[in-house]
Amino acid sequence: TTEDKKTLVQEFKLDPDSELRFEIESKNEKVYLVLKSGLAEVFGTELVKGKSYEFTSGAKVAVFTWQGCTLELKGKTDVHYVAKETPMIMYSNCHAALELMRISAEKDNVKGPVTMVVGPCDVGKSTLCRILLNYAVRMGRRPLFVDLDLGQGQISVPGTIGALLVERPASIDEGFSQEAPLVYHFGHKAPAANAALFSMIISQLATTVKERIEVNKKTKMSGVIINTCGWIKGLGYKHLLHTATAFEVDVILVLDQERLYNELVRDIPNFVKVVLLPKSGGVVERSKSARSEARDQRIREYFYGTLKNSLYPHSFDIKWSEIRVYKIGAPALPDSCLPLGMKAEDHLTKLVQLTPNAGLLHHLFAVSFSEKDDDEIINSHVAGFVCVTNVDTERQLITLLSPQPKPLPNNVLILSELQFMDSH
Ligand code: ATP
Repeated sequence: TTEDKKTLVQEFKLDPDSELRFEIESKNEKVYLVLKSGLAEVFGTELVKGKSYEFTSGAKVAVFTWQGCTLELKGKTDVHYVAKETPMIMYSNCHAALELMRISAEKDNVKGPVTMVVGPCDVGKSTLCRILLNYAVRMGRRPLFVDLDLGQGQISVPGTIGALLVERPASIDEGFSQEAPLVYHFGHKAPAANAALFSMIISQLATTVKERIEVNKKTKMSGVIINTCGWIKGLGYKHLLHTATAFEVDVILVLDQERLYNELVRDIPNFVKVVLLPKSGGVVERSKSARSEARDQRIREYFYGTLKNSLYPHSFDIKWSEIRVYKIGAPALPDSCLPLGMKAEDHLTKLVQLTPNAGLLHHLFAVSFSEKDDDEIINSHVAGFVCVTNVDTERQLITLLSPQPKPLPNNVLILSELQFMDSH
Protein backbone atom coordinates (compact mmCIF):
# COMPACT_ATOMS: atom_id res chain seq x y z
CA THR A 1 0.00 0.00 0.00
CA THR A 2 1.02 3.63 -0.28
CA GLU A 3 1.21 3.77 3.50
CA ASP A 4 3.89 1.04 3.47
CA LYS A 5 5.86 2.80 0.77
CA LYS A 6 6.03 5.90 2.88
CA THR A 7 7.30 4.16 6.00
CA LEU A 8 10.78 2.79 5.88
CA VAL A 9 10.95 -0.99 6.42
CA GLN A 10 14.30 -2.64 7.00
CA GLU A 11 15.24 -6.24 7.62
CA PHE A 12 18.23 -7.40 9.68
CA LYS A 13 19.72 -10.89 9.80
CA LEU A 14 21.58 -11.36 13.08
CA ASP A 15 24.24 -13.98 13.78
CA PRO A 16 24.23 -15.76 17.14
CA ASP A 17 25.52 -13.61 20.06
CA SER A 18 24.94 -10.28 18.35
CA GLU A 19 22.47 -7.45 18.84
CA LEU A 20 20.62 -4.82 16.86
CA ARG A 21 20.83 -1.44 18.59
CA PHE A 22 18.62 1.51 17.77
CA GLU A 23 17.69 4.90 19.16
CA ILE A 24 14.78 7.23 18.56
CA GLU A 25 15.31 10.87 19.34
CA SER A 26 12.87 12.79 17.16
CA LYS A 27 9.63 13.72 18.87
CA ASN A 28 6.45 12.01 17.67
CA GLU A 29 8.40 9.36 15.80
CA LYS A 30 7.20 5.77 16.16
CA VAL A 31 9.19 2.69 15.33
CA TYR A 32 7.86 -0.87 15.17
CA LEU A 33 9.96 -3.96 15.79
CA VAL A 34 8.96 -7.46 14.64
CA LEU A 35 10.77 -10.76 15.15
CA LYS A 36 10.38 -12.63 11.83
CA SER A 37 12.28 -15.82 12.67
CA GLY A 38 14.61 -17.24 15.30
CA LEU A 39 14.73 -16.14 18.93
CA ALA A 40 15.58 -12.72 20.36
CA GLU A 41 15.24 -10.73 23.57
CA VAL A 42 15.25 -7.12 24.71
CA PHE A 43 17.16 -6.72 27.99
CA GLY A 44 16.26 -10.27 28.96
CA THR A 45 12.59 -10.27 27.87
CA GLU A 46 11.84 -12.67 24.99
CA LEU A 47 10.16 -11.31 21.88
CA VAL A 48 7.05 -13.07 20.62
CA LYS A 49 7.45 -14.00 16.95
CA GLY A 50 5.28 -11.92 14.63
CA LYS A 51 4.21 -9.45 17.33
CA SER A 52 4.78 -5.78 16.60
CA TYR A 53 6.43 -3.79 19.41
CA GLU A 54 6.08 -0.03 19.40
CA PHE A 55 8.85 2.35 20.49
CA THR A 56 8.67 6.13 20.79
CA SER A 57 10.96 9.10 21.31
CA GLY A 58 13.70 8.52 23.88
CA ALA A 59 13.92 4.76 23.30
CA LYS A 60 17.41 3.27 23.32
CA VAL A 61 17.08 -0.40 22.61
CA ALA A 62 19.21 -3.50 22.07
CA VAL A 63 17.65 -6.64 20.56
CA PHE A 64 19.98 -9.50 21.43
CA THR A 65 19.97 -13.03 20.04
CA TRP A 66 21.73 -16.12 21.42
CA GLN A 67 20.71 -18.32 18.48
CA GLY A 68 20.49 -15.93 15.53
CA CYS A 69 17.33 -14.31 14.14
CA THR A 70 15.72 -12.08 11.53
CA LEU A 71 14.25 -8.76 12.65
CA GLU A 72 12.19 -6.12 10.92
CA LEU A 73 12.26 -2.46 11.85
CA LYS A 74 9.52 -0.18 10.53
CA GLY A 75 9.84 3.60 10.86
CA LYS A 76 12.62 6.11 11.22
CA THR A 77 15.34 5.59 13.80
CA ASP A 78 18.08 8.13 14.49
CA VAL A 79 20.73 5.48 14.90
CA HIS A 80 20.72 1.75 14.18
CA TYR A 81 23.46 -0.82 13.78
CA VAL A 82 24.27 -4.44 14.48
CA ALA A 83 26.94 -5.09 17.12
CA LYS A 84 28.78 -8.38 17.38
CA GLU A 85 30.67 -7.50 20.56
CA THR A 86 28.46 -7.52 23.64
CA PRO A 87 29.07 -8.44 27.31
CA MET A 88 25.95 -10.66 27.33
CA ILE A 89 27.94 -13.89 27.89
CA MET A 90 29.43 -12.40 31.04
CA TYR A 91 26.05 -11.11 32.23
CA SER A 92 24.53 -14.50 31.60
CA ASN A 93 27.37 -16.16 33.56
CA CYS A 94 26.52 -13.89 36.49
CA HIS A 95 22.94 -15.02 36.25
CA ALA A 96 24.09 -18.66 36.22
CA ALA A 97 26.22 -18.09 39.34
CA LEU A 98 23.26 -16.44 41.13
CA GLU A 99 21.04 -19.34 40.09
CA LEU A 100 23.49 -21.80 41.70
CA MET A 101 23.34 -19.75 44.89
CA ARG A 102 19.52 -19.89 44.77
CA ILE A 103 19.57 -23.66 44.35
CA SER A 104 21.83 -24.08 47.34
CA ALA A 105 19.73 -21.60 49.36
CA GLU A 106 16.67 -23.71 48.55
CA LYS A 107 18.41 -26.84 49.78
CA ASP A 108 19.44 -25.28 53.09
CA ASN A 109 16.27 -23.23 53.47
CA VAL A 110 18.23 -19.98 53.81
CA LYS A 111 18.12 -16.61 52.07
CA GLY A 112 19.03 -16.49 48.35
CA PRO A 113 21.65 -14.08 46.98
CA VAL A 114 21.34 -10.36 47.63
CA THR A 115 23.10 -8.63 44.73
CA MET A 116 24.01 -4.98 44.41
CA VAL A 117 24.88 -3.41 41.04
CA VAL A 118 27.21 -0.39 41.25
CA GLY A 119 29.15 1.86 38.91
CA PRO A 120 29.36 5.41 37.59
CA CYS A 121 26.59 7.10 35.55
CA ASP A 122 25.63 5.67 32.18
CA VAL A 123 27.23 2.24 32.34
CA GLY A 124 24.04 0.21 32.12
CA LYS A 125 23.35 -0.52 35.81
CA SER A 126 19.57 -0.41 35.45
CA THR A 127 19.80 -2.49 32.28
CA LEU A 128 21.92 -5.17 33.98
CA CYS A 129 19.40 -5.31 36.87
CA ARG A 130 16.60 -5.74 34.36
CA ILE A 131 18.45 -8.56 32.55
CA LEU A 132 19.21 -10.42 35.79
CA LEU A 133 15.64 -10.02 37.06
CA ASN A 134 14.19 -11.17 33.74
CA TYR A 135 16.43 -14.23 33.61
CA ALA A 136 15.48 -15.06 37.20
CA VAL A 137 11.69 -14.88 36.58
CA ARG A 138 12.09 -16.84 33.37
CA MET A 139 13.54 -19.63 35.58
CA GLY A 140 10.45 -19.45 37.80
CA ARG A 141 12.03 -17.28 40.50
CA ARG A 142 10.29 -14.35 42.23
CA PRO A 143 13.10 -11.92 43.11
CA LEU A 144 12.72 -8.52 44.74
CA PHE A 145 13.97 -5.51 42.84
CA VAL A 146 15.26 -2.66 44.97
CA ASP A 147 15.83 0.63 43.17
CA LEU A 148 17.93 3.26 44.94
CA ASP A 149 18.40 5.39 41.83
CA LEU A 150 16.59 8.56 42.88
CA GLY A 151 16.78 10.45 39.62
CA GLN A 152 16.36 7.79 36.96
CA GLY A 153 14.69 5.07 38.97
CA GLN A 154 12.03 2.72 37.68
CA ILE A 155 9.71 2.59 40.69
CA SER A 156 7.12 5.30 41.44
CA VAL A 157 8.23 8.93 40.78
CA PRO A 158 11.73 10.47 40.85
CA GLY A 159 12.90 11.44 44.33
CA THR A 160 11.94 8.09 45.86
CA ILE A 161 13.55 4.73 46.54
CA GLY A 162 11.60 1.51 46.63
CA ALA A 163 11.18 -2.20 46.17
CA LEU A 164 9.08 -4.24 43.80
CA LEU A 165 8.30 -7.96 43.71
CA VAL A 166 9.07 -9.20 40.20
CA GLU A 167 6.61 -11.88 39.15
CA ARG A 168 6.88 -11.72 35.37
CA PRO A 169 9.42 -10.43 32.84
CA ALA A 170 9.46 -6.71 32.13
CA SER A 171 7.24 -5.62 29.28
CA ILE A 172 9.42 -4.78 26.26
CA ASP A 173 8.17 -1.22 25.98
CA GLU A 174 6.99 -0.41 29.50
CA GLY A 175 9.37 -2.14 31.91
CA PHE A 176 8.33 -3.98 35.08
CA SER A 177 4.73 -4.01 36.19
CA GLN A 178 4.20 -1.64 39.12
CA GLU A 179 1.86 -3.56 41.37
CA ALA A 180 1.97 -2.46 44.99
CA PRO A 181 5.54 -1.22 45.14
CA LEU A 182 7.04 -0.34 48.51
CA VAL A 183 8.04 3.32 48.25
CA TYR A 184 9.99 5.66 50.53
CA HIS A 185 9.98 9.39 50.00
CA PHE A 186 13.26 11.29 49.77
CA GLY A 187 12.14 14.42 47.97
CA HIS A 188 15.26 15.35 45.98
CA LYS A 189 16.60 14.13 42.68
CA ALA A 190 20.13 13.53 43.97
CA PRO A 191 21.26 11.95 47.26
CA ALA A 192 23.78 14.67 48.11
CA ALA A 193 20.89 17.09 48.77
CA ASN A 194 20.35 15.38 52.13
CA ALA A 195 22.83 12.57 52.75
CA ALA A 196 21.67 11.97 56.34
CA LEU A 197 18.10 11.41 55.21
CA PHE A 198 19.20 9.21 52.31
CA SER A 199 21.13 6.99 54.67
CA MET A 200 18.18 6.82 57.04
CA ILE A 201 15.62 5.75 54.45
CA ILE A 202 18.03 3.20 52.96
CA SER A 203 18.30 1.58 56.41
CA GLN A 204 14.52 1.69 56.75
CA LEU A 205 13.93 0.16 53.30
CA ALA A 206 16.53 -2.54 54.05
CA THR A 207 14.76 -3.47 57.30
CA THR A 208 11.38 -3.71 55.56
CA VAL A 209 12.83 -5.71 52.67
CA LYS A 210 14.40 -8.19 55.09
CA GLU A 211 11.06 -8.60 56.87
CA ARG A 212 9.21 -9.17 53.59
CA ILE A 213 11.71 -11.76 52.45
CA GLU A 214 11.20 -13.75 55.63
CA VAL A 215 7.45 -14.14 55.04
CA ASN A 216 7.63 -15.14 51.36
CA LYS A 217 9.50 -18.40 50.89
CA LYS A 218 9.77 -18.16 47.14
CA THR A 219 11.20 -14.65 47.25
CA LYS A 220 13.50 -15.57 50.12
CA MET A 221 15.17 -18.24 47.91
CA SER A 222 15.14 -15.99 44.85
CA GLY A 223 16.96 -13.13 46.54
CA VAL A 224 17.21 -9.43 45.81
CA ILE A 225 18.71 -7.32 43.02
CA ILE A 226 19.64 -3.77 44.07
CA ASN A 227 20.17 -0.94 41.60
CA THR A 228 22.16 2.04 42.88
CA CYS A 229 22.78 5.56 41.62
CA GLY A 230 25.99 6.72 39.94
CA TRP A 231 27.25 8.64 43.02
CA ILE A 232 30.39 6.65 43.81
CA LYS A 233 32.96 9.16 45.04
CA GLY A 234 33.52 10.49 48.57
CA LEU A 235 30.28 10.43 50.51
CA GLY A 236 28.66 8.52 47.64
CA TYR A 237 31.10 5.67 48.20
CA LYS A 238 30.29 5.68 51.94
CA HIS A 239 26.63 5.29 50.99
CA LEU A 240 27.48 2.23 48.89
CA LEU A 241 29.25 0.68 51.88
CA HIS A 242 26.28 1.55 54.09
CA THR A 243 23.87 0.02 51.55
CA ALA A 244 25.94 -3.17 51.37
CA THR A 245 25.83 -3.52 55.16
CA ALA A 246 22.17 -2.55 55.56
CA PHE A 247 20.96 -5.06 52.96
CA GLU A 248 23.57 -7.69 53.95
CA VAL A 249 24.59 -8.13 50.32
CA ASP A 250 26.29 -11.31 49.14
CA VAL A 251 27.39 -10.15 45.70
CA ILE A 252 28.47 -6.77 44.32
CA LEU A 253 28.64 -6.37 40.55
CA VAL A 254 30.83 -3.42 39.59
CA LEU A 255 30.29 -2.08 36.11
CA ASP A 256 33.14 -0.55 34.22
CA GLN A 257 35.27 0.93 36.96
CA GLU A 258 38.41 -0.75 38.20
CA ARG A 259 39.07 1.87 40.85
CA LEU A 260 35.67 1.36 42.47
CA TYR A 261 36.17 -2.41 42.20
CA ASN A 262 39.52 -2.23 44.02
CA GLU A 263 38.14 0.06 46.72
CA LEU A 264 35.29 -2.35 47.37
CA VAL A 265 37.58 -5.39 47.45
CA ARG A 266 39.65 -3.52 50.05
CA ASP A 267 36.74 -2.35 52.23
CA ILE A 268 34.14 -5.11 51.97
CA PRO A 269 34.43 -8.30 54.06
CA ASN A 270 35.76 -11.35 52.19
CA PHE A 271 32.52 -13.33 52.27
CA VAL A 272 30.99 -10.84 49.85
CA LYS A 273 31.84 -11.60 46.23
CA VAL A 274 32.90 -8.52 44.31
CA VAL A 275 32.91 -8.94 40.53
CA LEU A 276 34.10 -6.48 37.89
CA LEU A 277 32.08 -6.48 34.67
CA PRO A 278 32.53 -4.54 31.43
CA LYS A 279 29.85 -2.13 30.26
CA SER A 280 28.12 -2.66 26.97
CA GLY A 281 29.31 -0.51 24.07
CA GLY A 282 25.62 0.10 23.39
CA VAL A 283 24.87 2.06 26.58
CA VAL A 284 24.01 5.57 25.62
CA GLU A 285 25.19 8.54 27.63
CA ARG A 286 22.40 10.84 28.67
CA SER A 287 22.84 14.58 28.83
CA LYS A 288 21.57 16.67 31.72
CA SER A 289 18.57 17.74 29.68
CA ALA A 290 17.81 14.16 28.62
CA ARG A 291 17.87 13.16 32.29
CA SER A 292 15.57 15.98 33.27
CA GLU A 293 13.21 15.09 30.42
CA ALA A 294 13.22 11.45 31.53
CA ARG A 295 12.23 12.56 35.04
CA ASP A 296 9.35 14.65 33.68
CA GLN A 297 8.21 11.77 31.53
CA ARG A 298 8.29 9.43 34.52
CA ILE A 299 6.07 11.80 36.55
CA ARG A 300 3.69 12.27 33.63
CA GLU A 301 3.39 8.51 33.34
CA TYR A 302 2.72 8.22 37.05
CA PHE A 303 -0.41 10.33 36.63
CA TYR A 304 -1.46 9.77 33.01
CA GLY A 305 -0.03 6.33 32.18
CA THR A 306 1.50 5.43 28.84
CA LEU A 307 0.29 5.38 25.25
CA LYS A 308 -0.75 1.76 25.58
CA ASN A 309 -2.04 2.08 29.08
CA SER A 310 -3.70 5.41 29.80
CA LEU A 311 -4.57 6.45 33.33
CA TYR A 312 -7.16 9.04 34.26
CA PRO A 313 -6.11 11.05 37.30
CA HIS A 314 -8.48 13.09 39.43
CA SER A 315 -8.36 16.77 40.23
CA PHE A 316 -9.99 18.21 43.34
CA ASP A 317 -9.83 21.03 45.86
CA ILE A 318 -8.94 20.52 49.44
CA LYS A 319 -9.14 22.99 52.34
CA TRP A 320 -5.89 23.97 54.00
CA SER A 321 -7.48 23.02 57.30
CA GLU A 322 -8.03 19.47 56.06
CA ILE A 323 -4.38 18.67 55.52
CA ARG A 324 -1.08 18.81 57.34
CA VAL A 325 1.85 19.79 55.16
CA TYR A 326 5.46 19.02 56.07
CA LYS A 327 8.92 19.20 54.70
CA ILE A 328 11.89 17.21 55.90
CA GLY A 329 14.92 19.11 57.20
CA ALA A 330 14.92 22.14 59.48
CA PRO A 331 17.31 25.06 59.05
CA ALA A 332 20.60 24.31 60.79
CA LEU A 333 21.15 25.64 64.30
CA PRO A 334 24.56 26.94 65.28
CA ASP A 335 26.43 24.41 67.47
CA SER A 336 26.16 26.60 70.56
CA CYS A 337 22.35 26.51 70.37
CA LEU A 338 22.01 22.74 69.99
CA PRO A 339 20.18 20.96 72.78
CA LEU A 340 22.38 18.60 74.76
CA GLY A 341 23.07 15.32 72.93
CA MET A 342 21.92 16.57 69.52
CA LYS A 343 24.27 16.43 66.56
CA ALA A 344 24.51 19.23 64.06
CA GLU A 345 23.25 17.03 61.21
CA ASP A 346 20.17 15.86 63.14
CA HIS A 347 18.21 18.81 61.83
CA LEU A 348 18.37 17.25 58.37
CA THR A 349 16.03 14.49 59.42
CA LYS A 350 13.54 16.63 61.34
CA LEU A 351 9.99 17.15 60.23
CA VAL A 352 8.93 20.78 59.81
CA GLN A 353 5.29 21.78 59.46
CA LEU A 354 4.52 24.27 56.67
CA THR A 355 1.63 26.63 56.24
CA PRO A 356 0.26 26.13 52.72
CA ASN A 357 1.42 28.98 50.49
CA ALA A 358 1.84 29.91 46.83
CA GLY A 359 5.33 28.39 46.82
CA LEU A 360 3.82 24.90 46.85
CA LEU A 361 2.50 25.29 43.32
CA HIS A 362 3.57 22.50 40.89
CA HIS A 363 5.34 20.57 43.63
CA LEU A 364 4.88 16.86 44.17
CA PHE A 365 3.82 15.73 47.63
CA ALA A 366 4.10 12.29 49.13
CA VAL A 367 0.95 11.10 50.85
CA SER A 368 2.18 9.43 54.00
CA PHE A 369 0.68 6.25 55.45
CA SER A 370 1.69 7.31 58.92
CA GLU A 371 -1.06 8.07 61.42
CA LYS A 372 1.39 9.56 63.87
CA ASP A 373 2.45 13.16 63.88
CA ASP A 374 6.15 12.95 64.58
CA ASP A 375 9.42 11.91 62.97
CA GLU A 376 7.89 8.44 62.45
CA ILE A 377 6.42 9.94 59.29
CA ILE A 378 9.88 10.07 57.74
CA ASN A 379 10.43 6.37 58.35
CA SER A 380 7.11 5.14 57.01
CA HIS A 381 6.57 4.22 53.39
CA VAL A 382 4.17 6.30 51.33
CA ALA A 383 0.76 5.65 49.78
CA GLY A 384 1.50 7.62 46.63
CA PHE A 385 1.96 11.10 45.21
CA VAL A 386 -0.15 14.15 44.39
CA CYS A 387 0.77 17.32 42.55
CA VAL A 388 -0.35 20.82 43.55
CA THR A 389 -1.91 22.42 40.45
CA ASN A 390 -3.37 25.53 42.08
CA VAL A 391 -3.08 27.45 45.34
CA ASP A 392 -5.93 29.78 46.28
CA THR A 393 -4.68 31.90 49.18
CA GLU A 394 -7.92 33.84 49.48
CA ARG A 395 -10.22 30.86 49.89
CA GLN A 396 -7.46 28.84 51.55
CA LEU A 397 -7.74 25.95 49.12
CA ILE A 398 -5.28 23.94 47.09
CA THR A 399 -6.06 21.92 43.99
CA LEU A 400 -4.46 18.51 43.71
CA LEU A 401 -3.83 16.17 40.82
CA SER A 402 -4.15 12.69 42.23
CA PRO A 403 -4.18 9.12 40.87
CA GLN A 404 -7.14 8.45 43.18
CA PRO A 405 -10.37 10.34 43.81
CA LYS A 406 -11.07 12.25 47.00
CA PRO A 407 -10.62 11.59 49.89
CA LEU A 408 -6.87 11.19 50.21
CA PRO A 409 -5.81 8.01 52.02
CA ASN A 410 -4.27 10.21 54.71
CA ASN A 411 -4.06 13.94 55.40
CA VAL A 412 -0.28 14.06 55.92
CA LEU A 413 1.55 15.48 52.88
CA ILE A 414 5.33 15.74 52.55
CA LEU A 415 6.95 18.20 50.18
CA SER A 416 9.17 17.07 47.31
CA GLU A 417 11.66 19.29 45.54
CA LEU A 418 10.44 17.83 42.26
CA GLN A 419 7.92 19.76 40.24
CA PHE A 420 5.55 18.83 37.46
CA MET A 421 3.82 21.21 35.05
CA ASP A 422 0.53 19.58 34.21
CA SER A 423 -0.11 20.47 30.58
CA HIS A 424 -3.07 18.16 30.02
P1 ATP B 1 22.29 5.95 35.44
O1 ATP B 1 23.45 6.82 35.24
O2 ATP B 1 20.99 6.66 35.29
O3 ATP B 1 22.35 5.17 36.71
P2 ATP B 1 22.62 3.39 34.15
O4 ATP B 1 24.04 3.10 34.42
O5 ATP B 1 21.62 2.68 35.00
O6 ATP B 1 22.35 4.92 34.17
P3 ATP B 1 21.03 2.44 31.96
O7 ATP B 1 19.85 3.24 32.35
O8 ATP B 1 20.97 0.97 32.21
O9 ATP B 1 22.34 3.06 32.61
O10 ATP B 1 21.38 2.64 30.41
C1 ATP B 1 21.39 3.91 29.79
C2 ATP B 1 20.63 3.86 28.48
O11 ATP B 1 21.31 3.00 27.55
C3 ATP B 1 19.22 3.29 28.60
O12 ATP B 1 18.36 4.11 27.86
C4 ATP B 1 19.30 1.89 28.01
O13 ATP B 1 18.09 1.53 27.39
C5 ATP B 1 20.40 2.06 26.99
N1 ATP B 1 21.13 0.79 26.75
C6 ATP B 1 21.63 -0.05 27.67
N2 ATP B 1 22.26 -1.08 27.09
C7 ATP B 1 22.16 -0.89 25.76
C8 ATP B 1 22.61 -1.60 24.60
N3 ATP B 1 23.30 -2.74 24.70
N4 ATP B 1 22.31 -1.07 23.38
C9 ATP B 1 21.61 0.06 23.26
N5 ATP B 1 21.18 0.78 24.30
C10 ATP B 1 21.44 0.32 25.53
